Amino acid sequence: TVGAVADDFLYNAFVVGGFVRDLLLRKTNMDLDIVVEGDGIAFARTLAKKLGGRVREHERFGTATIILHSGLKIDIATARLEYYEYPAALPTVELSSIKLDLYRRDFTINAMAIQLNPAHFGRLVDFFNSQNDLKQMAIKVLHNLSFVDDPTRIFRAIRFEKRMDFTIARHTERLIRNAVKMNLFGKGDDPRFFTELKLLLNEENATPAIERLADLGLFPFLWPDLRPHLNIDRRLRHCLVQTQRAISWFKLLYAGDQYDPWIIFLLAIMGRSPLSVLATFCDRFHVPPKTRALLLGEKQLADQASRQLATAGPPKNSEIHLAFKELRIEGLLYVMAVARKTEVKKAVSSYITKLRHEKPLLGGDDLKQLGYRPGPIFKTILETLLIARLDQEVKTRDNEIALVS
Ligand code: ATP
Repeated sequence: TVGAVADDFLYNAFVVGGFVRDLLLRKTNMDLDIVVEGDGIAFARTLAKKLGGRVREHERFGTATIILHSGLKIDIATARLEYYEYPAALPTVELSSIKLDLYRRDFTINAMAIQLNPAHFGRLVDFFNSQNDLKQMAIKVLHNLSFVDDPTRIFRAIRFEKRMDFTIARHTERLIRNAVKMNLFGKGDDPRFFTELKLLLNEENATPAIERLADLGLFPFLWPDLRPHLNIDRRLRHCLVQTQRAISWFKLLYAGDQYDPWIIFLLAIMGRSPLSVLATFCDRFHVPPKTRALLLGEKQLADQASRQLATAGPPKNSEIHLAFKELRIEGLLYVMAVARKTEVKKAVSSYITKLRHEKPLLGGDDLKQLGYRPGPIFKTILETLLIARLDQEVKTRDNEIALVS
C-alpha cells in the first residue's frame, strides 16, 4: 500500500533506519520509519485514509505519525529536496535526497533504506558500506563531525553496542573520547540527553552499558557530584549487579507487569548520594517536572524506608507495610538492590509477593451496614483492619467486625 500511494504521488518512498538494520539481522522491529522524497505530511494523510488510522502531524519538521487501528505506528519523514546540494540533472538524482537523509543519521548500520515503490520494491539502498559494518558487527559514524553535530549519539553508540553485542569501531571510539575530552556536551540542556540516557538504562541488561559510560569518561558529565565520580568503584559495581538481580527476580515472578527499569538503575547509581544530588541531576538534564517529582519522591521514601527497616530488629508485617505502602515497584526494587541487610531484602520480597496484595475482609458496604457513614473515616478503619490482618491479630470476618464495632 505504501508503495502504491507513493507511486500515485510520484514520490520515492523508503523504509529506513532501525527497521532495515533489524530486518537484515532477522530481528523483529515494530517501529516503521518511512522517508518519502516529497511532502511527507500530504503523503501521510492519504496513506492513513487507505490504511485506516489517525495522523499526528509535526508541520515544522515535515514529519507525521500514523497510528493504525491495530496500534501499530508508522513514522513518515520528508527527505527534503531543497537541502539538496547536487544539480538536479545528475543521473543519481532519484536517490540523492534519500542519500542526504541517510548521511545525516547516527551510524552506518542505521543508514540503510529499502525502497517501497512497486517497480523497485525491496531494493536495498546502501551508500555507506553499511551491510559490511553489520557483518563486522561494527558501530561506525558516517563522518568525523558526527558527535560534534549531536553528542547524544554517544549514548546511542553505547546502547547499540551493548544491545547487539557489537563493537564501537576504533576510529569512532576515538571520536567519542575526543568529544568527551573537549567537553562537547556543554551543559547537557538538550532534553535528548535524558531521553537517550533513559533508553540506555532501559535496555535488557543495562550494567555493561553503564560500565561503558564510565569507561568512555562520561560519568563526570552525567554525575559530577557522584563520589568517586571518575569511574565505577567496587561498591557501585556491586550495587549494579544487585539491581540487575532484583529486576530479574521481579520479571520472573511478574512477567506482564509494567515498570521502568531505568528508574531503578538511576536511583541505584545515586544510591549513596543525598537527595540534592538527584535534584541537581534533574535540573541539569531538564527532566520533565512530573518525572522529577516521581524520582525525588521515590528516592526520599525508599531511603527513609531502608533506614527504618535496617535500624530496628526483624520488622513486623505492619511495619513493612507502613514503610513501603507509598512506593512504586521501582522504588521497592531499588531498596532491595541497595540494602545491605538481608532482613531488608527479605522485607521487600515479602511485601512484593504477599503483603501488598492483602486486604481486609470487610469493605465499604460492610462498614455502612455496621452503621458508619461514608467519609474519610472509612480509609482509616480499613487501614486499621489491614494492619491487624497483616500482624495476624484478626483472621475471620467476625474478628474484623468485633474490632470495628
Ligand atoms: P531502536 O531499536 O532502539 O528503536 P532505532 O534505530 O529504531 O533503535 P530510533 O531512536 O527509533 O532508533 O531512531 C530511528 C532512526 O533514526 C535510527 O535508526 C537512526 O537512523 C535515526 N536516528 C535516531 N536518532 C538519531 C540521532 N541522534 N542522530 C542521527 N540519526 C538518528
